[in-house]
Amino acid sequence: MNLSLFGEKFSAKTGILELMEDLGAALNSSEKMYMLGGGNPAHIPKVNAIWQKRMKDILIHENQFNSMLTNYDSSQGKNTFLEALAELLHNQYGWDITANNIAITNGSQSAFFFLLNMFSGTFKDGKKKKILFPLIPEYIGYADQNIEEGSFTSRKSIIKNIDDKTFKYFIDFEKLNINESIAAICVSRPTNPTGNVLTDEEINKLSIIAEENDIPLLIDNAYGSPFPHIIFEDINSIWNKNIILGMSLSKLGLPSVRTGIIIAEETIIKKISAVNAIVSLSSGSIGQVLTTPYIKNGEILQICKNIIKPFYLKKSIQAVKWIKDCFGSNIDYSIHKSEGALFLWIWFRNLSITTKELYKKLKMRKVLILPGSYFYFGLEKPWEHKDECIRLTYSQSSEDVKKGIEIIADEVGKYVK
Ligand code: PLP
Repeated sequence: MNLSLFGEKFSAKTGILELMEDLGAALNSSEKMYMLGGGNPAHIPKVNAIWQKRMKDILIHENQFNSMLTNYDSSQGKNTFLEALAELLHNQYGWDITANNIAITNGSQSAFFFLLNMFSGTFKDGKKKKILFPLIPEYIGYADQNIEEGSFTSRKSIIKNIDDKTFKYFIDFEKLNINESIAAICVSRPTNPTGNVLTDEEINKLSIIAEENDIPLLIDNAYGSPFPHIIFEDINSIWNKNIILGMSLSKLGLPSVRTGIIIAEETIIKKISAVNAIVSLSSGSIGQVLTTPYIKNGEILQICKNIIKPFYLKKSIQAVKWIKDCFGSNIDYSIHKSEGALFLWIWFRNLSITTKELYKKLKMRKVLILPGSYFYFGLEKPWEHKDECIRLTYSQSSEDVKKGIEIIADEVGKYVK
């Protein structure tokens, strides 16, 4: 089939496609799979019960049912949701925002597709500009989103050992090298895949650099505060006219409502709404109607603080303990400090195979993880570290995470140099 460059690029076999196919195949398989690969949020019974009760309420109230399913919203989003969220963010953080600073997209994945392409590629004057990812490894979902080849650039992070089994990545500010070819800076905080949370100092520095260079700072807050608040560090949430913040309802246990949120300066929101109109007409209303009352009365904050965060924190601590118990002393490994999100990022320093090969071997043993190499896009020079790490999701049932870790330990043990 003869396709355009866009068609060729976007239908190619990419890491994110492989991930989604693995997830789909595992979900539909009759065989037991240990799903430690994807980013599906956990099914937390107390949270599911909240959404189920709310759904029942909607079904018996005709006006709410109609509002949820029977109209196209404006391409910016549903007014009641936008207003409730603006008020929550203003009350919570003192941010100077109104509903005009918020736009809804069909998932934050789409939001970042719009943003990354609006700010990179060829400009009116013929100049080519890039998005800078200052802390690699970074979210696999961005890796193939650029319509124009070569419009992403990234920097290796600095690795600091915290103890003999824990490390943490930091931004190498000396090597950022911002020049006029950089059109925007993008980070996820907490970071998928590593569970890193950029410190307040790092974020403030990035914000200042962005402002000085008159370029936006994109912060992907899919796991951050105020919701879903899967963040274990005590940090500040910042927003200003130079920051474009991405949020999502997915990790509140609602990935299938496909609701992404962009918080930005009004002119950017107008542009996002315009793109949305072309691409989607409008975004789905289900997530917005489902969550509006909880955002309006602030209850969402309690749900996150009292149920969601403790749930993930406990699972993270437990998974780290199982790793330490199972890996033994002959495997030379270190785990990135778990500061948020749903993942543990493990670095193996003495394996005779790459983690891509390890991924294939584990898949044959019914354990799905993600090899690190997908998360190192945009680098100018190869970095061997990319073949030494894996991402493991700890959001699944305790039995599955424990059994999966046991199988990983057994398999990894075969390839110690
Ligand atoms: N950003 C990050 C960092 C993610 O991990 C994900 C999904 O896992 C997304 C964005 C996309 O989320 P969604 O499109 O479900 O809102």
